[in-house]
Amino acid sequence: MSMTAQTVWDNCLSFIQDNITPQAYKTWFEPIRAVKLTDNALSIQVPSKFFYEWLEEHYVKLLKVSLTKELGEHAKLVYVIRMENTYGNKQPFTEKIPSTNRPNTMKSQEVDAPLKNKNPELKNPFVIPGIRNLEIESQLNPNYNFENFLEGDSNRLARSAGMAVANKPGGTSFNPLLIFGGVGLGKTHLAHAIGVQIKDRYPDKTVLYISAEKFTQQYIESVKKNNRNDFIHFYQVIDVLIVDDIQLLSGKAGTQDVFFHIFNHLHQNGKQVVLTSDKAPVDMQDIEQRLLSRFKWGLSAELQSPGFETRVSIIKNKLYQDGVEMPEDIVEFLANNIKTNIRELEGAIISLIAHSSFNRKEINLELAKKIVDNYVKHTKREVSIDYIQKVVSDYFQMDVDTLQSKTRKRHIVQARQLAMFFAKKLTKASLASIGSQIGKRDHATVLHACKTVDNLSSTDKQFRKYVEDLNKKLTM
Ligand code: ADP
Ligand code: MG
Repeated sequence: MSMTAQTVWDNCLSFIQDNITPQAYKTWFEPIRAVKLTDNALSIQVPSKFFYEWLEEHYVKLLKVSLTKELGEHAKLVYVIRMENTYGNKQPFTEKIPSTNRPNTMKSQEVDAPLKNKNPELKNPFVIPGIRNLEIESQLNPNYNFENFLEGDSNRLARSAGMAVANKPGGTSFNPLLIFGGVGLGKTHLAHAIGVQIKDRYPDKTVLYISAEKFTQQYIESVKKNNRNDFIHFYQVIDVLIVDDIQLLSGKAGTQDVFFHIFNHLHQNGKQVVLTSDKAPVDMQDIEQRLLSRFKWGLSAELQSPGFETRVSIIKNKLYQDGVEMPEDIVEFLANNIKTNIRELEGAIISLIAHSSFNRKEINLELAKKIVDNYVKHTKREVSIDYIQKVVSDYFQMDVDTLQSKTRKRHIVQARQLAMFFAKKLTKASLASIGSQIGKRDHATVLHACKTVDNLSSTDKQFRKYVEDLNKKLTM
């Protein structure tokens, strides 16, 4: 059988597939197309430069081994990158890059990237020669670094992209790097870590960390004092600009405008921009389109809620740093009960330690429960009887009036009993009050309803499913 790009690549794929997780395979290998085979060089087409960098960083060994098996020890891999041209030309163009064998050398990626040539440096009349000698205080917090930013599935992409940027600011395609995710998931930490590492590796680079809020204040101040231009110059000489919480620019047209100009200047000059936001770009509101589209130029990487294992490691790491020991069951209890916010997790640990040392009490499960209650209670949704009736009627596809009606039809009676049961379970209302709110019944009816639900859910499988489904809907 004669070899074609396709057959060679198919063989490589089946080897690769055996050696990585199905998820990784699907993400990083299924989108690749084999395009050409010449002698011992296989060309594969990847969807973006980011893709190429990711493959080189994480899978270069695997690729090399699989390709060597197919084409011998002189095997070569050439990436063909399909890029969208962001500068107006509709034609996508391709870029050919030979694979490096060392994962961290990305020299080759600089090979005649046409993007850069098409976009000659703009002369900026404002740049004052010599300004680079200015010392700019980075505003970085050295306590937020990569070493203590624990890795997990929830942050792997963002963390790796952050590392790549830190090792080569302005020199990767992650520009800007936009880190987004919910409150307390590590955006600020990661943003600092990138800056700290850059300062470490490249002490001469001017790095600046700033919150969007402070940036806005400075801008408003500059307008008041009539030195808007100085404000802009200041930002234009920075090598690495890190702006935290850019969602705060929403609705602020003037600040967005000035940021747009600063951004363009930095980007065109190969300077690195790192941004964080509590939302993905698509969900940002009242941010100008032209700015949003720039946010999407580089990479948007999400920080998700950490899984159980990661939460446990974060707790242990925190305890270790503070020199505190805590029984395993309490660590697990905390990890199980505070799930969506690492700041709250840390807060709970700190107050647990404080309580136990102030009151000279041992850290035990009872204390942990009390403290977790303080942390989690306010995030739990207040469930009202109205809400319960709404959820139950929606579930059975009837309206609330029907649920409350006097009818004796079995499925309606059951729906009503379920509503009563959950009202008893999830609210502090008395039986009488529940009865009066759910179709003007008396307390005995509610009591009977609760008993019936209990009985039915232990004898009737279908009914148990209703209870479980509704419980999920009402408590999640
Ligand atoms: P955000 O800016 O997303 O609201 P922060 O960066 O302020 O969140 O993080 C909240 C707290 O959680 C910080 O104390 C941070 O150090 C900690 N944290 C977040 N992610 C991690 C992680 N992966 N490893 C260790 N600590 C983390
Ligand atoms: Mg933050």
